[in-house]
Amino acid sequence: MKKQFAVIGLGRFGGSICQSLVKQGMEVLAIDISEDKINKYANIATHAVIADSTDEDTLKSLGIRNFDHVIVAIGDNIQSSILTTLMLVEQGVRHITVKAQNDYHEKVLNKIGAHKVVHPERDMGVRIAHNIVSKNVLDYLELSDEYSIVELMAGETVNGKSLIDLNIRAKFGCNIMAIKRKEEINVSPTADELIIQGDILIVIGADNDLNRLEQDLFNDED
Ligand code: ATP
Repeated sequence: MKKQFAVIGLGRFGGSICQSLVKQGMEVLAIDISEDKINKYANIATHAVIADSTDEDTLKSLGIRNFDHVIVAIGDNIQSSILTTLMLVEQGVRHITVKAQNDYHEKVLNKIGAHKVVHPERDMGVRIAHNIVSKNVLDYLELSDEYSIVELMAGETVNGKSLIDLNIRAKFGCNIMAIKRKEEINVSPTADELIIQGDILIVIGADNDLNRLEQDLFNDED
């Protein structure tokens, strides 16, 4: 059976989640308080309803507890976002993902039981900043306050060198999880694997170690 999603709030973030889920073949109920937004998504989402998600009876009548995953994408109105999330938790929704507007909002959402809190502007800011500092850093995923996963593009500095030549684990304390070369992906590469310029290395490590690695080996000029 297809998974059932509900997206509450159809701003740029919620709207793009809704579209992307539909494209992936999922069933999506789109909910927004604004009639204009619902008109816009009526032909995109599986179902679209005008509703105020802070109204408990409305959520119940929509059968919100039966959805596999509910995404709360109300950003600006923090009070509505918190109230909606609280009611979803109380109604026992299995997976609740909420967009946070700032750190305090995030803290409250975690406290009241949201299963996942996302902070797209902040996360994108961190990613873009890493990419601005070094063109070789393609993507950056924070795992915790201390650890991250980065995607690094191999430049001239590491071209033709094997993992053992570079000795990344001993020198930098980072682990290469995979190497992407065009369409192929080599998961857990062996030490004798040669790196070729243009390869993408997926590396996990502590932020300080990753920064040293980026500076020393993945900081090629254009
Ligand atoms: P984004 O940054 O994602 O573009 P936005 O700034 O366009 O968001 P927000 O004010 O964050 O918009 O709200 C997102 C959507 O949530 C809006 O379309 C708004 O109508 C809807 N919304 C706000 N409050 C409620 C509510 N109580 N019930 C349902 N929808 C709501």
